[in-house]
Amino acid sequence: MIDIDGSVGEGGGQILRTALALSMCTGQAFTLTRIRAGRSKPGLLRQHLTCVQAAVAVSGAEVQGAEMHAQQLRFVPGAVRAGSYTFHVGTAGSCTLVLQTVWPALLQAEGRSCLKLGGGTHNPMAPPFHFLARSYAPLMRRLGAHVELTLHRLGFYPAGGGDIDVTIWPCHDALRPFNLIERGPWVESYAECLAPAVPRTVAQRELAHVESALGWHTHQLRTVAVRQNEGPGNALLATLVYDHVTEVFTQFGAKGLSAEHVARELVREVRSYQRSQAVLGPHLADQWALPLALAVWKSQRAAAYTCTDLTPHATTNFAVIERFLPVRFTTTSCDTGWYVELAPC
Ligand code: ATP
Repeated sequence: MIDIDGSVGEGGGQILRTALALSMCTGQAFTLTRIRAGRSKPGLLRQHLTCVQAAVAVSGAEVQGAEMHAQQLRFVPGAVRAGSYTFHVGTAGSCTLVLQTVWPALLQAEGRSCLKLGGGTHNPMAPPFHFLARSYAPLMRRLGAHVELTLHRLGFYPAGGGDIDVTIWPCHDALRPFNLIERGPWVESYAECLAPAVPRTVAQRELAHVESALGWHTHQLRTVAVRQNEGPGNALLATLVYDHVTEVFTQFGAKGLSAEHVARELVREVRSYQRSQAVLGPHLADQWALPLALAVWKSQRAAAYTCTDLTPHATTNFAVIERFLPVRFTTTSCDTGWYVELAPC
């Protein structure tokens, strides 16, 4: 039984999701105390509880403490089963975080799994669907983990109602770690605004600001058709495509924020990434750690990546991963950001 203190490091929800994912992958049970003690509303919120329930569904786990606001959880995984699963967060809570909780385990199942996920698809504190589809999923495929993601309906805070289908193929322990040290040649960059049920001028102003601030051309600004009854919501995205990586940066509009403010924040993120030569931006840097660690452990081969920043979120995640897997992270600051090495031990 692995005992984890949920208040360590960042003290947020990622400690729970990483523990659930790696408990299922390795068959090791865990207890988690002081869940999300670093947050203003500690304990399990709807999104976290859905992650626990999803983990129970795919692994037949025995669980104690799976209740709203619980600050302690005991999780004993069973065998992971491929199948068709439906997980609804029930609010605008992120359904992409639920996906990331069960994804690694389903790679090790006997057959293909089909997931229907409902909730928020574009949330300010979670990987937006487009980031998963364009940045994260291609890296997973390169590891040897084939996946298909389809967005049927956008889900924004507070209404939620997003709808995603995901098919995960098992990879039979054949994950192949690889280095991500250079971005490779630049291919293209573009910006788009997803703003259903919001006046069209808001999207136009956001994109116009991105165009002038980054010196991009009109053909790099894309308008996205939205479906009926989606939203309201406003996500402004910048996608930067290089040979070895695609990064997606997202900012969200909200009441009281001007279109120009939203665009300025996005431009700041893009410029910060462009100033560095490191491959992974701050979010990919923390999310890439878990699948890469699995591949390093399974193959017993080391791998490394460069990233622009190492957030407390990332370093907390590294520490939780090391509790479950016999791997070691070594981080070194370098000219362009950070160099992260991951080796079996
Ligand atoms: P808590 O409520 O405890 O803060 P949480 O469960 O909502 O926790 P975090 O622990 O903060 O979530 O983890 C959020 C995850 O979402 C992190 O992996 C982070 O990198 C990712 N994320 C947040 N914003 C973005 C973004 N714009 N693009 C990609 N990923 C993002």
